[in-house]
Amino acid sequence: MFKKILVANRGEIALRIIFACRELGIKTVAVYSEADENSLHVRFADEDICIGPARSADSYLSVPAIISAAEITGADAIHPGYGFLSESAYLAEVCEACHIRFIGPDPSVIRLLGDKAKARRAMKKAGVPMLPGSDGPVESEEAAAKVARDIGFPVIIKAVAGGGGRGMRIVKEPKELAHAFRTAQREAEAAFGVGDVYIEKYLESPRHIEYQIVGDHHGNVVHLGERECSIQRRHQKLIEESPSIAVSDKVRRKMGAVVVDAARAVQYTNAGTFEFLMDAKGNFYFMEVNTRIQVEHPVTEFVTGLDIVKEQIRIAAGERLSFKQSEVTFTGHAIECRVNAEDPVTFVPSPGLIHAFSIPGGPGVRVDTAAHAECTIPPNYDSMIAKIIVHGRDRQEAIARMKRVLEMSVVEGIRTSIPLHLRILNDPDFVAGRLSTHFMERFQPVKKPSSLAETA
Ligand code: ADP
Repeated sequence: MFKKILVANRGEIALRIIFACRELGIKTVAVYSEADENSLHVRFADEDICIGPARSADSYLSVPAIISAAEITGADAIHPGYGFLSESAYLAEVCEACHIRFIGPDPSVIRLLGDKAKARRAMKKAGVPMLPGSDGPVESEEAAAKVARDIGFPVIIKAVAGGGGRGMRIVKEPKELAHAFRTAQREAEAAFGVGDVYIEKYLESPRHIEYQIVGDHHGNVVHLGERECSIQRRHQKLIEESPSIAVSDKVRRKMGAVVVDAARAVQYTNAGTFEFLMDAKGNFYFMEVNTRIQVEHPVTEFVTGLDIVKEQIRIAAGERLSFKQSEVTFTGHAIECRVNAEDPVTFVPSPGLIHAFSIPGGPGVRVDTAAHAECTIPPNYDSMIAKIIVHGRDRQEAIARMKRVLEMSVVEGIRTSIPLHLRILNDPDFVAGRLSTHFMERFQPVKKPSSLAETA
């Protein structure tokens, strides 16, 4: 087992990894930017090291800074968390070269699945259901027109290097295609440094359903059921739950077997997520594989009772999975709300000093956060300040529990998305489980900011 793990991240996920290490008896190294000197992940790690200025490109995204920090502190492994360098095949390769274990899949697997066009091809070969689309990147406007004609409008143009919901263009009619194709390429180039795009059929009102898997280096792969992440804004998830009310036990078993086979086909190891869209008839279509721990992993931990981060660490250290598929059971219902530092009406980010911070616990409540009273949310990073996760005997109890926690939460000094979450949880369609990725269109941003008093 590892003696010391460097946590190449910040915020709640850095803390989450430190908790797992502490429970496993592994020492931790926190890295931090100048904006995060007083953060909890720095306080709770056994060692800490500043890796640069606030700008992510100069700190949390700097491979040389992170590798140097690992070498200086003698860390034998790096956990990248999510975001930042978590899906960097390059970091995984440099780790290998420096004899530091990267806690994630092999670099070649990260590279394959990180290219969405290549991932599509590999998954199609492995028997995963696919939306009709281009067979690889589309090179020209003419080629784009041909693909779109073949599969029929509407289509969606996506960046092969895409992520975080960026670089996507929906095209409803032929006359919009050429312009959308050029802008998508330009946007992809600017955002990811790679302009390649691919095309697939656009589904009008799908659900987002994803499967969590874990695989070890001894050929064992197990799925941990699905999460439904249909509540999204600008293709970014806001609320996630497990199980999905649209997935029966039979379908869970069937799709679980499909993803386990597909993971085996690409020799997938460590934790990963297979993302799908599901249409109104219950058909699944592959979207992508995320080769890292995800923000929403706690809902799966609640219903399975497993600790995915500990499992990641054990797998990276060469141990066998600590459970078999037949030992994975699903109990009750879990929901996660991502609390963002933002105005709940205009959705404009709201960083700054938090004066008062209290999120109540109680039965079946988990709060993953690095925020606390008198801490400052820097403007430089993602606006998520806390994840509230609840577990109930059923979905109804989970919703009631989440509402209770949100209503009793006190966050003063900045605005948060808590009032927005309450509006969603009170929506009759949400309560009835009538979800789709378009659900949030009913909550459009309003220009005028809400007053602090109303939203704290
Ligand atoms: P990213 O990696 O940027 O998150 P994804 O491929 O995971 O991109 O897609 C993110 C979201 O975009 C999905 O959850 C869904 O809401 C929407 N989306 C992507 N592809 C399609 C499609 N073919 N049809 C309809 N919606 C789509």
